[in-house]
Amino acid sequence: MTNTIAAVSTPHGKGGVAMIRISGPETRDILERVFEPAGKTAPADAPRTAVFGRILLRGQAVDTGICTFYKAPASYTGEDTAELTCHGGIAVTAKCLEAAFAAGASPAAPGEFTRRAFVSGKLTLSEAEAVGMLIDADTQERAALAASASQGKLSEALSRLADRITAPLSQLYAAIDYPDEEIGEISPAQLCDSFRETAKEARALAATERRGRAVAEGVRCAVVGRPNGGKSSLYNLLCGEDRAIVTDIAGTTRDVLTETVSFAGITLLLADTAGLRESDDSVERIGVERARREAECAGLVFFVYDMSDTLTKEERDFAEDFRCRLPDTPTVAILNKTDLPRALSSQDEEFLSRIHTKLCTLSARTGDGLSSLESCVAELFDSDIEGSFDSAVVWNSAQRASLESAADSLEQAAVSLEGGMFPDAACTMAEDALSALLRIDGRGVSEEIVSSIFARFCVGK
Ligand code: GDP
Repeated sequence: MTNTIAAVSTPHGKGGVAMIRISGPETRDILERVFEPAGKTAPADAPRTAVFGRILLRGQAVDTGICTFYKAPASYTGEDTAELTCHGGIAVTAKCLEAAFAAGASPAAPGEFTRRAFVSGKLTLSEAEAVGMLIDADTQERAALAASASQGKLSEALSRLADRITAPLSQLYAAIDYPDEEIGEISPAQLCDSFRETAKEARALAATERRGRAVAEGVRCAVVGRPNGGKSSLYNLLCGEDRAIVTDIAGTTRDVLTETVSFAGITLLLADTAGLRESDDSVERIGVERARREAECAGLVFFVYDMSDTLTKEERDFAEDFRCRLPDTPTVAILNKTDLPRALSSQDEEFLSRIHTKLCTLSARTGDGLSSLESCVAELFDSDIEGSFDSAVVWNSAQRASLESAADSLEQAAVSLEGGMFPDAACTMAEDALSALLRIDGRGVSEEIVSSIFARFCVGK
């Protein structure tokens, strides 16, 4: 990495201040050309100190601002870095950036500062991914997940798991290299236990993907049911505002309306749909078809029923058919209109609780009972309604797959040791596990193993 890059790090548009970030080996030289301190001290001579001065484009002052220099490796990218804050007008910010380019910097590619931080080992891959997530986060839950991962919670958990593999692995290496000697303090049975215990922990971490993905990607959630059951009222309640038209005229909602909402500690990609019924109206029929499709593609379906009425055959058939064709999609039966006298029989309620994954009662008009729907969703996605991330969470299927593959390899290693096979086989499997774990953070396995062996085991004996 030889060039020095510059870019405006604040959003494009008018603001009080804008910040230009410069990173690379030429940062000092570029600053000398671009920034003239008001006092005697240049920013590069006083790292991490805000220095006031003039910003120069080819020797001409274009603005005044504050410059802070970070000396490598104690910077975000691990390189010499400067943060130049100027006034936040669009034209003046462009001039200050031009000044950095005129002084020798190259334009930074998208994400390049964070990529350099990863390459120089300042951030792990999951931390770098989380920085991107934090910047994109549009809900509190997404921001909390990203903040936890960008501060290293996942990387620490992965390192702890990796450490628990390298210790027994070094002992296996020793057993291979010195077959005639008693080496190490752990018995083969203890080695197996240790591999199995670590596999269990890896699986527990893999299981957090359900929640992590439900926050990071969001869960596509269709609100379906008969006309006038209260789907649009529920949709509006969850959106926190009147997005869908609510009337007592059946067939009001025809197209699919969508909105992203935070609910039960996860992100719901909510879709309000047309009421399911036979219709002669061709537009309504298309709406009903779209509603069915929306439900079939969803990761969660809210079936809204009207408690102040009896269950229709159409509703029964739809629920049964859906359960039959999509047995794994979680569904919540929402018995709505609890504020009205009840007409739904207990037999029908029993049928709904059997056919659906969860059941709750509420009034979409008053909001009473919404917390019971929240609890149902939180249980389905193992989420924390408060949205806190106190322990490590993974959020995509690649991370989960790597953890599961690590767990598989560790269990195979234990089986092969118990079967009395040569330690070489268990060694290879434990290495596979380690490499699967480290892959999540973009780390290579070979140097890890080598340094751990030399650190833990005295080969010169
Ligand atoms: P949709 O056709 O399923 O989307 O149903 P809407 O949300 O448009 O509601 C149909 C009618 O039922 C409207 O008049 C709503 O005000 C009414 N409604 C919806 N939810 C409730 C509820 O919980 N209690 C009462 N009393 N009325 C409701």
